[in-house]
Amino acid sequence: MEFVHDSLGQRVRFGTSGAAAALASEVAERDAKRVMVIAAPAEQELAERITTGLPVALSYQEVVMHVPVEVADRARHAAQGADADLVFSIGGGSTTGLAKAVALTSGLPIIAVPTTYAGSEATPVWGLTEGSTKTTGVDPRVLPKTVVYDAALTLSLPVELSVASGLNAMAHCIDSLWAPRADPINAALATEGIRALAAGLPAVVREPRALAGREQLLYAAYLSATAFASAGSGLHHKICHLLGGRFDLPHAQTHAIVLPYVLALNGAAAPEASARIAGALAAAEALDGLWSLYEALAAPRALADYGLPRTGIPEAARALVELVPPGNPRAVGEVDLLKLLEAAWAGTDPREFRAELNR
Ligand code: NAD
Repeated sequence: MEFVHDSLGQRVRFGTSGAAAALASEVAERDAKRVMVIAAPAEQELAERITTGLPVALSYQEVVMHVPVEVADRARHAAQGADADLVFSIGGGSTTGLAKAVALTSGLPIIAVPTTYAGSEATPVWGLTEGSTKTTGVDPRVLPKTVVYDAALTLSLPVELSVASGLNAMAHCIDSLWAPRADPINAALATEGIRALAAGLPAVVREPRALAGREQLLYAAYLSATAFASAGSGLHHKICHLLGGRFDLPHAQTHAIVLPYVLALNGAAAPEASARIAGALAAAEALDGLWSLYEALAAPRALADYGLPRTGIPEAARALVELVPPGNPRAVGEVDLLKLLEAAWAGTDPREFRAELNR
């Protein structure tokens, strides 16, 4: 065994109904006097619930998916105007993304409270959108100093969104098994993440107000994002990034839908990854196990339902050929990508797509 693995310096505070106390302790430890709170209007009530008594200098609400540059600029000016010394964000990946945009230019520390399972809180990756072009980059300044996970704050996340977002975390886990910097530590994190998702997702669908399943999903979200941050973007992330940017598709649902097809494509050429996935799903075979989970969850199925125009597929497949990571377990050509996108567009059973690939 031979590998190089970088671990990121970040504190994690995990505890149901413990966010307010955790934040108060963080603010005191950092001697912060002027906190900027970032939360979308829908998450205002949650934000107020956990920041009462803190030295809040500014409550900022303009959160937009994929962080348009003009939105980032307004938030940066507001932070400067309020003389903020700490940024606190509560919400999904879009909210964390705005906090990162502020930290990128100001160097202000972030404390993030995620309420979806997208995992941005555990990565040093930032993203900004100009027109229809999304640029991403890596900068240690945007990695939140502390992440506070509190399952009680995720109870309001609707079941369908919980499923899609949990499968976004599943995609981080599975893709990290063959991504450019895949290593045994990432694989261990990812395998435990898959196990926790397979336990938590059905529990949340069965009983959305119960906390045990929600805790499993937050725990898995952290593991998945840590594995992804270290391993980098594999084929799955390349496909979703391109589709999301070109066709303005919703983030979590796109990841959820594309994942089984990427597993169908890569699985046979990645026997060790497939064995890990199957084991973590307690299934005899990886794709069978993943697809049974999808069926049990009534997971989102077809990109056609989320805005991908069928006419855009050939052009997307052509662009994707250039983006296939060189270390992908198998060679992938334009025809494979065309078939994959057609299958994901229609929501075909991914085992049929796998059989079609071999014909
Ligand atoms: P999101 O943040 O847009 O949230 C989706 C929806 O969920 C929103 O309508 C939001 O208001 C709602 N919501 C969030 N928490 C809620 C709660 N507790 N109760 C009720 N509703 C709630 O979507 P997302 O999938 O979390 O994040 C997607 C964004 O994050 C994308 O822009 C993506 O590129 C980015 N992202 C970045 C990284 C990274 O490492 N930089 C990683 C993952 C995702």
